[in-house]
Amino acid sequence: MDSSNPSKFSIEFFPPRSEEGESNLDAVHAELSGLGPDFFSVTYGAGGSTRSGTQKLVLKYQQAGSELAPHLSFGGTDEEQIRQLLNDYKAAGIRRVVALRGDLPSGMGAAVQHRYASELVEFIRQETGDHFTIDVACYPEIHPESNSYASDVKFFKQKVDAGANSAITQYFYNPDAYFRFVDYCAAAGIDIPIVPGIMPITNYANLARFSANSGAEIPRWLSKRLQSFGDDKDSLRGFGIDVVTELCDDLLQGGAPGLHFYSMNQSQNIRQIWNNLTLSGQSQNAKS
Ligand code: FAD
Repeated sequence: MDSSNPSKFSIEFFPPRSEEGESNLDAVHAELSGLGPDFFSVTYGAGGSTRSGTQKLVLKYQQAGSELAPHLSFGGTDEEQIRQLLNDYKAAGIRRVVALRGDLPSGMGAAVQHRYASELVEFIRQETGDHFTIDVACYPEIHPESNSYASDVKFFKQKVDAGANSAITQYFYNPDAYFRFVDYCAAAGIDIPIVPGIMPITNYANLARFSANSGAEIPRWLSKRLQSFGDDKDSLRGFGIDVVTELCDDLLQGGAPGLHFYSMNQSQNIRQIWNNLTLSGQSQNAKS
C-alpha cells in the first residue's frame, strides 16, 4: 500500500462478545465487502479484553480477501505484547493499523498507566519502520479531556510528527466543526488527510449515551427531531439516513478525503447511505 495515497472509504467493526454476534458479523462483513471499501478496521479494548477478539477477526477477514486495519493501544498491555502483535500482523500481510491511546474500562484507570497515542506511533515506527500505514484519531469538537482547542491540535500534531499517515475523526453532525478543524490543523502545519468518522443513526438513546461519553455533539435541532420519533424506529431510521447522507454529501463536496463509517456491526444503514452517495462508483475496489 502506498502511504502517500491513503485509502478513502472504510468501515469499522468491533469484536462481538458471542458466537451468534460473530456469525451475524460474518454476514455483515460479506455484505459490506460487496460495496468495495478500501479497508475494514476492528476496534481494540484498551484494557486488553478484546485483544484476541480483534486479532481473530482481523486475520479471518483478511484471509477472506479484505484489507484490514486493526486498532491498537498500549492500554494495560506491555511493549512486548504489542511487539508480538505487530509481528503477527506483519506476518499476516496487514499493512495498516489505527494507533490509539484507548479508553480504559471503568475501574482500571488507577491500575494502568495511560500512554498517549503519540508514544504508540513512535513505538510502531521504531519497531516496524515504514511497513504500516498508521491512522490516528482526532476530534473536530475536541477530545473531552482536552483543556483547549489549541492544546488538542498541538497533541494531534505530535502524532503526525511521530509518523502518522492519516487521521480519522470522532463522529459529528455539524460539518462546519469539521471544516473549521481542518483549516485550523492546516494552519498548525498538519498536512495529513483527515477523514471524517460517520455514525449512522439507528437509536436515539444509544446515540445520546455515546455522545455524552465521547464529547460528540448532537445539535439541538437533531436531538429534538430524533426524540420526536419515540418508538417509531422505521421513521427514525429513514430520517437518520437522510440526515447522514446529506452530511456525507456536504463533507465530500467540501473536499473531505474520504469517509470512515462506524458500523456498530450493522450493514443496513451503511449500505443505504453508501448507495445514496454512489460511493461504489468512486471506490477503487468497487465490485460491479
Ligand atoms: P491521544 O491522542 O493520546 O489523546 C488523549 C488525550 O490526551 C487528548 O485530550 C489529548 O489532547 C491529550 N494528550 C495527548 N498527548 C498529550 C501529552 N503529551 N501531554 C498531555 N496531554 C496529551 N478506543 C478504544 O478503546 N478502542 C478503539 O479501538 C478505539 N477506536 C477509535 C477509533 C477512532 C477513529 C476514534 C476517533 C476513537 C477511537 N477510540 C477507541 C476512542 C479513543 O481511544 C478515545 O477517544 C481516547 O480517549 C483517546 O484516544 P487518542 O488516541 O485520541 O488519544
